[in-house]
Amino acid sequence: MNRRFRLSFNADKCKGCEICVSVCPKHILAMDAAVNAKGYHPACCTDETQCIGCTSCALMCPDCCITIYQLEEGEA
Ligand code: SF4
Ligand code: SF4
Repeated sequence: MNRRFRLSFNADKCKGCEICVSVCPKHILAMDAAVNAKGYHPACCTDETQCIGCTSCALMCPDCCITIYQLEEGEA
């Protein structure tokens, strides 16, 4: 069974730099239409099911806004 991942964003820490968007090999990160507490459009994931858990986005984020979790088998 393929491993599955969940992304958690600290949206209010995000400064909308789009570095995570540029490094994702699956092109599943984008900027949300909503605005966060700082007035920036925060990053979000458009299709979590396509995430391969490479952690590039989390490693490259200058503000450590992204956490990747590996889901257990059967976990929604
Ligand atoms: S962990 Fe990798 S594949 Fe998943 S969203 Fe981040 S950069 Fe993209
Ligand atoms: S790299 Fe971090 S601060 Fe920059 S847009 Fe992505 S989540 Fe936001």
